[in-house]
Amino acid sequence: MQAGLFSFDQRVAPADAHEALRTTAASHPFSLPMPNDLATADIDRDVLARLSEKADVDQLLGALSDLDEDELDRLADGARPQKPQRPSPTPPVNADVYEVFEGLTDAQEATRETVRSFMQAEVEPVANDMWEDGTFPKDLIPKAGALFDEVVGRDAYTFPSDDPIRTNLISFEMSRVEPSFCTFWGVHTLLSMGSVALFGSEAQKERFLEPMAAFDMIGSWALTEPDHGSDVSQGLATTARREGDTWVLDGAKKWAGNATFADVTVVWARDEADGCIKGFLVEQERPGYHVEQIGGKIAKRGVENGLIELDGVELPEANRLPGVSHFGDVSAQLATCRASVAWEAAGLATGAYEKALAYCNERTQFGKPTSSFQMVQDKLVTMLGKVTALQTFVMQLGRLEAGAGAIGNERSSLAKVWACDTMREVVSIARGIMGGNGILLDHDVARLFADAEGVYSYEGSREMNALIVGRAITGQSAFV
Ligand SMILES: Cc1cc2nc3c(=O)[nH]c(=O)nc-3n(C[C@H](O)[C@H](O)[C@H](O)COP(=O)(O)OP(=O)(O)OC[C@H]3O[C@@H](n4cnc5c(N)ncnc54)[C@H](O)[C@@H]3O)c2cc1C
Repeated sequence: MQAGLFSFDQRVAPADAHEALRTTAASHPFSLPMPNDLATADIDRDVLARLSEKADVDQLLGALSDLDEDELDRLADGARPQKPQRPSPTPPVNADVYEVFEGLTDAQEATRETVRSFMQAEVEPVANDMWEDGTFPKDLIPKAGALFDEVVGRDAYTFPSDDPIRTNLISFEMSRVEPSFCTFWGVHTLLSMGSVALFGSEAQKERFLEPMAAFDMIGSWALTEPDHGSDVSQGLATTARREGDTWVLDGAKKWAGNATFADVTVVWARDEADGCIKGFLVEQERPGYHVEQIGGKIAKRGVENGLIELDGVELPEANRLPGVSHFGDVSAQLATCRASVAWEAAGLATGAYEKALAYCNERTQFGKPTSSFQMVQDKLVTMLGKVTALQTFVMQLGRLEAGAGAIGNERSSLAKVWACDTMREVVSIARGIMGGNGILLDHDVARLFADAEGVYSYEGSREMNALIVGRAITGQSAFV
């Protein structure tokens, strides 16, 4: 055994050490017996006998005798068994500490509550199966239709929404629980229905928009191509050739959401005659239209993204969207959808914070909930700050959008960039403070962590959106 007081031989049980200290130091703090005086000291000899089997008592007492009163007190305190702490009650998880959503209108609040209940009752129970199977559960489609009727109204649909906060609260609440379901909804109601509402003829609205609003017809939306993503405005290679009253489409599309089971896909193609981008409504059963599901994804596994081949697909003029004359039209629609993605990012981050906090309150290590450790609390607070900022940010975005009627490219791109960056920081912390369980589907955060990568990349990458904002604030285009 070493002579230092704080290096007792590990064989000395704390209880024995404590007892020896109590009977020597605590009973006779000012007149400790020196090793040679042990025979005359008024101490508990049984305890010392037991201790001497495990430690060099002479050396121990010698070291003790060098201590002053304060040092002995501190030592006796340290050896005393800790009183069990009374556990404090765990407060409910609350991700809206600044009451950001307190000022919602009744309709907005009702929408939020309805969607939240729907997600918890219908989608959350199958979320992990969606992930494992890599498929979208089709039995949710009629239920999603009933939800749409309740929170939007099949005859009340407009694009852009006349209440963007209400519409985007839907994305927020969906993404908070299951981001793949949110993408299914967004591709159908914002991208596909949005294109028909914005650019379609009255006849097309009757033929497509009405059944789509009832979810009897599901939409997909195909702009990105295998060889053109960020540069799609310049490089889009799918062609449309007019032959009399017929259009012939050739090319390929990648990533189109819902494409494997959609009834109709909005396909963007370059008119061979004038070089401009045009939009077409392509039904699944058209000869020459082939779709296969993209496999091997690590994010948004419940979304069925399609790789589409268009091999001489013939369409009547009645399937061309007459309201589109160039890429700028598509871009204007995307600005609105991009703002929705910022809401989606805020919802996803909020969900990750809530799940991680609830987990840390339950998870016990060293006899205490992990949420009681200083470093874990620091991370929880960092997450809460970011989540609160995200909520405040998207609510202001919604107010701007409601006031102006449209959000504009710069504002929506800034929203996409910042919200996605912040979401990624939050999910990374959430996943980390859950240890190994943070990568298991069982605890939900793993799915949110991975899905954040899909949200980060779609509706324009970070860099493309940053270039849009950079151009606006500097007056200098840095696009290559
Ligand atoms: C889950 C998911 C769902 C999707 N759903 C749809 C859908 O329904 N319909 C659809 O049409 N598309 C969809 N997309 C496609 C999505 O919009 C594209 O992935 C996105 O636009 C980026 O294109 P890309 O993947 O081809 O990347 P690329 O264009 O190949 O870019 C790769 C990287 O290079 C960077 N980069 C490229 N050019 C520049 C430059 N000039 N300066 C600086 N950096 C640059 C990009 O920012 C990016 O980081 C989806 C994608 C995902 C992941």
